[in-house]
Amino acid sequence: MSNTDADVLVLGGGLVGTAVSYGLARLGLRTLVLDEGDIAHRASRGNFGLVWVQSKGFGVPEYQRWTRRSADEWADFSRELLSETGVASGHERPGGVTICLNEDELERRSKRMEQLHLEAGETQFEYEMLNPAALKKLIPAVGPEVAGASYTPYDGHANPLYTLRGLHAAFIKHGGRYIPNARVEAIAAAPGDFKVRAGGKVYAAPKVVLAAGLGNQVLGAMVGLNVPVRPVRGQIIVTERMQPVLNMPTLMIRQTVEGTIMIGESREESGFDDSTSSEVVHTLAQRAVKTFPFLRHARIVRSWGALRVMSPDGLPVYEQSARFPGAFVCTCHSGVTLAAAHARHYARFVAEGALPPELGRFSTRRFDVQAAA
Ligand SMILES: Cc1cc2nc3c(=O)[nH]c(=O)nc-3n(C[C@H](O)[C@H](O)[C@H](O)COP(=O)(O)OP(=O)(O)OC[C@H]3O[C@@H](n4cnc5c(N)ncnc54)[C@H](O)[C@@H]3O)c2cc1C
Repeated sequence: MSNTDADVLVLGGGLVGTAVSYGLARLGLRTLVLDEGDIAHRASRGNFGLVWVQSKGFGVPEYQRWTRRSADEWADFSRELLSETGVASGHERPGGVTICLNEDELERRSKRMEQLHLEAGETQFEYEMLNPAALKKLIPAVGPEVAGASYTPYDGHANPLYTLRGLHAAFIKHGGRYIPNARVEAIAAAPGDFKVRAGGKVYAAPKVVLAAGLGNQVLGAMVGLNVPVRPVRGQIIVTERMQPVLNMPTLMIRQTVEGTIMIGESREESGFDDSTSSEVVHTLAQRAVKTFPFLRHARIVRSWGALRVMSPDGLPVYEQSARFPGAFVCTCHSGVTLAAAHARHYARFVAEGALPPELGRFSTRRFDVQAAA
């Protein structure tokens, strides 16, 4: 009998941990997820649901490529989850726009899109800058006050809660084990040998994957990994259900398959405070009404705040511990967008025991360089 509890222990059962766990279980590895539970901050349950390409990787082509790879695989990934579990993620990829309300915004946007285009290399990144008339043709509901928009065909959206549910169900179907209310308190680490204490028990495995979102900083220190993630709050408003009116997502406003309109998302340094504030909700609503005047009459049914898992440069953090090989970290602030890449590729890298050079740009070594500078 094996004296380990699993081939891999995954610490954290949000979108990132569950995507990686599903991928590992699908490859036949005995995988066990330890998850803190409802008292933890959980970005996966409070996010906006974009599978978004057009704002990822300015100056970092590796991130643009990784994001694109995931977004390109999302439709097939979504079909796979549906056939594995019967859970539909609601994924659609009609393209997407970032709407600008004044000339300054439009000029900045245009420069950034051109930069992405130039940096894309073989991946290629096609985009269009739309004037108000062209934008109105694409999305008739847009109002007269917009200055224009950027468009790419690569963007889409999904229901993040159904995605998480589908991933979880697929993980269990492939023999994965999920232990809730199991906050990891300590890790006794040796190369290829990890003993993790959680919920009053100790679990042993030759590999661990840190996927605990904002919990990764503390857990990283236990396995020789520097993971300086911090919370960045986003607030979101949701309206009542409406007739289909938005045929594609925009960066800040999208209509869900159920008909509600989601309006987001702010960015605030608020520490671990995930409450909402009337000032931010007001600003979001004002911008939304300017963009889509029909929203003036929409009833808001809910608003919430949630905490992004943000690294100092906004890029994902992927690394295997040099001191304790077998310990990996996987964390990012675009866990919906990157779900396909995490399930299909990151999981395989963990199974094979090494991260490839293409992920080198996301190593924790960059934080040592920043600290030295
Ligand atoms: C407002 C907002 C909007 C967003 N919009 C988008 C979007 O449109 N598109 C997109 O791609 N991404 C978006 N994101 C980001 C996305 O939600 C996150 O990247 C993703 O959810 C991160 O998932 P995670 O599993 O790393 O973290 P979490 O969802 O936070 O999960 C971490 C898990 O780890 C567990 N945990 C923590 N500490 C421990 C411990 N010590 N022991 C055991 N378990 C532990 C917790 O219980 C939790 O279940 C948004 C985020 C926010 C906040």
